[in-house]
Amino acid sequence: MKALLIENNNNVYQTELKEFDDSLLPEGNVMVEVEYSGLNYKDALAITGKSPVVRQFPMVPGIDFAGKVIQSDSDKFKEGDTVVLNGWGVGERHWGGLGQRARVNADWLIPLPSAFTTRQAMAIGTAGYTAMLCVLELEKHGVKPDDGEILVTGAAGGVGSVAIALLAKLGYQVMALTGRPSEADYLKSLGAQGIIDRSEMSEPSRPLGKERWAGVIDVVGSHVLANACATTKYGGIVAACGLAGGMDLPGSVAPFILRGVKLAGVDSVMCPYEKRLEAWTRLATDLDLELLESLTTDIQLEDAIEKSKALLAGEIRGRLVVKTSS
Ligand code: NAP
Repeated sequence: MKALLIENNNNVYQTELKEFDDSLLPEGNVMVEVEYSGLNYKDALAITGKSPVVRQFPMVPGIDFAGKVIQSDSDKFKEGDTVVLNGWGVGERHWGGLGQRARVNADWLIPLPSAFTTRQAMAIGTAGYTAMLCVLELEKHGVKPDDGEILVTGAAGGVGSVAIALLAKLGYQVMALTGRPSEADYLKSLGAQGIIDRSEMSEPSRPLGKERWAGVIDVVGSHVLANACATTKYGGIVAACGLAGGMDLPGSVAPFILRGVKLAGVDSVMCPYEKRLEAWTRLATDLDLELLESLTTDIQLEDAIEKSKALLAGEIRGRLVVKTSS
């Protein structure tokens, strides 16, 4: 089988496309023929070594994949079943999806909803499934389309693009924060009603600003997240899932204690099974597949290393789906 392999020998960090026997795959009770994987922000960090995402070496990166079961020692899945995997430390501690086969624990797999092909599942990928988890947080908090504008940050990226498409279809009024004004037409085609330049929310935040957002989905962190909290309306919610602009949160408690704003952390990696299932089920009903196609770019396994650099430089629009077979 072919896979990307990350090695770290004497602090020389290297990712290469390699060929090896699938008997080398780590232990697990289900073997999957991977058809597609996605290139996510975390994969790009792992492939380039920019952050210590990988916990042991050598490592096959790829925090998600979709494919067909080719061998199973579990009651949960049988040969021929189509499955999807997101997270659980796969691609970080356990060999992941950027290869032609993967051996994993059956508990980490979800049956692929029949609404999607394996390619569509990875066009959504961990980014899109996380966008859905964020939308579910807004709904759980009781945010309704009539409550006012929803801000989506990092709008032209993977999480942002899917979040806009989902929210717009659900009837919300979406404002897209982007550092790429040239992508305004793209963002509007996904359903954004207005564009906000990232620079407007990148400066250090005041404790409170003018109340504007009924809800926020933030992938950026740092000053953008602090400004988003400070400008969320009384009783609103900010779902925070990313750190594309920084891991810090340089704000004050004022929005939380004076406006009752809720800051909801969203994690896709260890998210409980039932919630994942709910997210994938909702994606099957609430994501417009034509819009999904319009935000998707296909690449091959061998392109993933170069594309990782572009992704971390903020140059990739929407989602990259990786075809793992040649
Ligand atoms: P992505 O496709 O690379 O999108 C990130 C977007 O953030 C970029 O397209 C860009 O949008 C914006 N951005 C990039 N660099 C920035 C900077 N320095 N300052 C401000 N904005 C910047 O990545 P993604 O897959 O959407 O993931 C986004 C974030 O969510 C990442 O931090 C990722 O680790 C995180 N994430 C977390 C989970 C979880 O479980 N919590 C799951 C998935 C992803 P514009 O060009 O439009 O400004």
